[in-house]
Parts: sequence; structure tokens; C-alpha cells
Amino acid sequence: MTSRHAPVIPPHMLDALARHGAGHLKSRAQNTLSIDQQFRQPMSARAKASIIHQNYPDSAPGAPARYIFDANQQTRLPGELVLEEGGEPPEDAQVVQAYEDLGATYRFFHDVMGRHSIDGEGMALLGTVHYGQAYQNAFWNGEQMVFGDGDGEVFLPFTRALDVVAHELTHGVTELTAGLEYRDQPGALNESISDVFGVMVNQYARGEDVTQADWLIGADLLAEGVNGKALRSMAAPGTAYDDPMLGKDPQPAHMDQFVNTRSDNGGVHINSGIPNHAFYLIAMELGGNSWETAGQIWYDTLTDERLASDAQFIDFAGLTMAHATQRFGQRVAEAVMNGWRQVGIGP
Ligand SMILES: [Zn+2]
Repeated sequence: MTSRHAPVIPPHMLDALARHGAGHLKSRAQNTLSIDQQFRQPMSARAKASIIHQNYPDSAPGAPARYIFDANQQTRLPGELVLEEGGEPPEDAQVVQAYEDLGATYRFFHDVMGRHSIDGEGMALLGTVHYGQAYQNAFWNGEQMVFGDGDGEVFLPFTRALDVVAHELTHGVTELTAGLEYRDQPGALNESISDVFGVMVNQYARGEDVTQADWLIGADLLAEGVNGKALRSMAAPGTAYDDPMLGKDPQPAHMDQFVNTRSDNGGVHINSGIPNHAFYLIAMELGGNSWETAGQIWYDTLTDERLASDAQFIDFAGLTMAHATQRFGQRVAEAVMNGWRQVGIGP
């Protein structure tokens, strides 16, 4: 299993909400969990993907081909086509946000990393909004991105957060490059890579350097009454939220606190805090814009054929040091090594 159906909201948040949510929030969370559960069954998404993508051709180099669909609160995909590349946008904020966020993510991968869409060959970008009823998640299913409306009281519509849209699209890039397995350490690396590129797309779009950025994931997603800043914090994993309905952010920042669990595919959204924090430390030490040095090293590593689909944290760290040396030289490689050491990984 690779990153197929990789949702942004982990089961531990929804489990907490299903137990401690006020009133109908309980049933909303149970409903979201039951939808997420269906997708854990193996599916022949690759065969399906090629059929769907036959209808939505690749784009010419240098530009995206975006298709936004409306599921009309149902769970059939992709739904009704409501906006395509260059078309007249309907009066629906979520359609427009999804379209713009996919465009900003395309621009980042193209202009900064030299990658023409998810597969590097102009693959059309498909996104469905208004998926399910008050569905509290967003995911990449191997062929397209899917966004729920949220419940409005804890989770706001998922298209609001550019970093979350970029997170989902990056799962597509990872699936077609390193193909990291979606469980245990390779799964946590898979999740972390989506967070790393998610924050970089945000920072690039806003023109923020490493000191201006908030290093949060999904800061625009949590409704006002929630006691929390975001879903995750790369600067301080474990501090993003602490709420009576959602529980407390369980992310570790160091290998000493590595969480051994069978839930969440072996803690893929939990232990991702460790490589997330390493990236943050390295980017801060290097200074400037995250995407110019640390981001290039991460991209070189992600697209390196030597990165195995069952890579452990230490394997990934070793390759980042090799690429730092190769592209930027000894000083940068030392900063990379220091960052990994501070989270308990490496020599
Ligand atoms: Zn994810």
C-alpha cells in the first residue's frame, strides 16, 4: 500500500471527536471515520486512474490542466464538472479556492522544482469539492484530490488551506516517485514530505522567508471555538492543539518520543513530527527561503532512485546529506547533519 487514500486529518483526531464531540459533532465524526474506513480496502485505483485521466488530457509544458468537480454532498467521484482550465468560475468559493490552490501548487512544483505536474508529464489535476455531508477530511486517492466541507464548528471547508491542498497533491508526487509505503517509518516519511511541501507552497505563495513563516499545517482549517492553532506544528510538534473535543496533539519532535502504535497505519501522522522538525531546524539554520536550499535537497532526495519504498528515517536522512553535499557543498551538508542529529537521527 502506498499513499492511496492519504487523508489529512488523522484518525486520532476524529476518534476523539467521535467520543467527546458535542451533540451532532459525534455523529459527523463517526460518519467521516466510516467513509475513511471504506477506502482502506485495497482498490484497483491505477486501472481506474488511467480510465478517468483519458477524459482529462495532460497539459502543455509550463501550465496546469485543472478540472474541478462538485460532488453535491454525495460520495460519488469525480462528481459534476463545474470548472476547467481557463473557464468561467461559478459563484462557489470552494470551487474557486480549489482551482486557485491547485494552480499555486502547480506553479511551485514547476517554477521551483522544474516538475511539470504530479507525474512530471503534465498529468491533469482533478479536484472534487463538497464531498459527502459535512465530511471532515481531504484526501488523495491515487487519481484525484477530494475535499470535504467540514462540519463548520470544528473543521472549516478544506479548500481554505493552501498547505492542505499542496499536502494532498504532494502525496501524488510521492506515489509516482519514491512510492513510499503508507505505514510505519516510510509512511511517516510520506506524511512528512507532504507537510514539508505543503508549508513550502504556502511560504512561496506568500513570499515568506523561514523567519516570517508560521510553520503550521492547516492553520486556516480549525474553527474559532477550537483550542488550537492548526493540525500540526513543524516548529514545535505536539503543541498544535489541546482541545476537550479533539484531544492533544500527539506528535513527537525527537526519536526518544517515537510512538509505537498500530493505529493510523503505525502512527504515520504522529511520527511524521520527527522528520518535520528536522526539516524546520535545517531550514532555520540555513536561513533565507526554505525552498531554495532545504527544499531542493528534499526534492532531490524524493526523486532519487536510491530512496527505497520501505525507507526508514535514517535512510532518508543519509540521502539528504549526500544531496546537500552534491548540490551545495560541505557547509550546507553540515547544517543538514546537525538538524537530523537534533531529532535523534544519524551518527
Ligand atoms: Zn497526508
